[in-house]
Amino acid sequence: MWRDLLQQQRGDNPPRLSVEDAIVLYDEADFNTLRMVAAERRRRVNPGNEVTYLIDRNVNYTNVCTINCQFCSFYRPPGHDEVYTQTYEEISQRLAELEAVDGVRVLMQGGVNPELPLEWYTGLIEFLRKEHPEIALDCFSPIEIEGIADVCDMSTLDVLTALKGAGMHGLPGGGAEMLVDDVRLDISPKKGSAENWLRVMMEAQSLELTTSATNVIGFGETSEHRIKHMERVRTLQDQSHENGWSGFTSFISWPVQLENNTFGKRNRGNNRYDLGVGPTEYLRHVAISRLFFDNIEHIQASWPTMGLDIAQMAILGGADDIGSTMMEENVVSASGTTKTCALEVELQETVRRAGFEPRRRDSDYVLLDTPHVGLDVQGFPSPPPLQPSK
Ligand code: SF4
Repeated sequence: MWRDLLQQQRGDNPPRLSVEDAIVLYDEADFNTLRMVAAERRRRVNPGNEVTYLIDRNVNYTNVCTINCQFCSFYRPPGHDEVYTQTYEEISQRLAELEAVDGVRVLMQGGVNPELPLEWYTGLIEFLRKEHPEIALDCFSPIEIEGIADVCDMSTLDVLTALKGAGMHGLPGGGAEMLVDDVRLDISPKKGSAENWLRVMMEAQSLELTTSATNVIGFGETSEHRIKHMERVRTLQDQSHENGWSGFTSFISWPVQLENNTFGKRNRGNNRYDLGVGPTEYLRHVAISRLFFDNIEHIQASWPTMGLDIAQMAILGGADDIGSTMMEENVVSASGTTKTCALEVELQETVRRAGFEPRRRDSDYVLLDTPHVGLDVQGFPSPPPLQPSK
């Protein structure tokens, strides 16, 4: 049956994959054939030979959080002696370092900090907008928006409207993890239902904030859970397009990191077995996502969790984007990844060695002029990279 399904997906006008058929492909399709069909689809959706990437920086402005996700080793509860909240000036310094390397976007995310009112966030956005007018400010995530709404007794739509008015460019799709409540409520019981994440995202899209969809796998869920997550994202994307909104720019998935789950409690939760995802399963997930999402243009590879080698395999099997330079990452890396920054030359070399042309983009996937960044005779990037603040 999987052969027939994949054959149908190879045509010029392939039928939309149903949940049931996608589960069959997920569980049964030959790995290499599945990836070949996903690569063909990628070339139809994104013609040409370019793989895009973004020069950006992560900023994790606070680690104070009350949500206590079981897989998270980044957060600290209010009152803990390791809590921090960066000042406007400290955050601005990070953006100055981003400007120095031609960066065009900051992705700023933190915990759900009950001590910060809406005015702190709008003040920050206005300050950064003034100091760094060329940097797109993609900030927070649906659960942070819900946290601000709770603190200020406002609706999430009003919070988003205020942030957009202050100059926020986008709402990244963090915190989606698994949009299936029996998994979600097990791993992050205080994060609320899948419905909340989808509602806040829809509100952001109604305001034409730039949004992306994410998906974390490896909590012990089934392939059916994973496809149902994709179905919820695909349905919201349909609704947004029907409303004339842009919807999600991209779909980004990665495996949960649990090697250093000392502060999170996942290793002691209800489901302590079958955790994590290896490279083959991750690449299968990327390929299925490319075939399933007939309404999301860009599928992104995840080098921070999988490494550049597996990210290279992902762009050969359905992904058309290799993510961003990031410069720092403190949330996922607190639980196990070791690489938190990619140099532009690394992304370019990874893309070239897979047979594609690397191309800079902005947060909205608008293509940008792209210098050829090379290695000097000793194998070091030239010019040498700036060291980010710690
Ligand atoms: S993943 Fe985010 S919401 Fe969950 S505990 Fe960590 S910082 Fe808080």
